[in-house]
Amino acid sequence: MGRRRRRKVIRTFRRTIPKVYICPQCGKRTVTVQIVKEANIAHVACGTCKISGDIALSDGMTAVDAYCAWYDEVVAGKNWKSLNRKI
Ligand SMILES: [Zn+2]
Repeated sequence: MGRRRRRKVIRTFRRTIPKVYICPQCGKRTVTVQIVKEANIAHVACGTCKISGDIALSDGMTAVDAYCAWYDEVVAGKNWKSLNRKI
């Protein structure tokens, strides 16, 4: 009865692409990216503080890329006031 079953832990390399992202303004994970193919833009919006913006998509850009671009934009200017104090 000494048969031990060793469960092999299979590490599946899962690429989880989150649908919601962290908001640079309010810090909540409520930012969604909506790809608008007709206009070739990504509409990024936060469900909590309602900050939003449109990012022009270039070839091969994904929702994540659009989010990053938008994040940079927000951090670089527009709504940086409230965050500025903490740094
Ligand atoms: Zn927000």
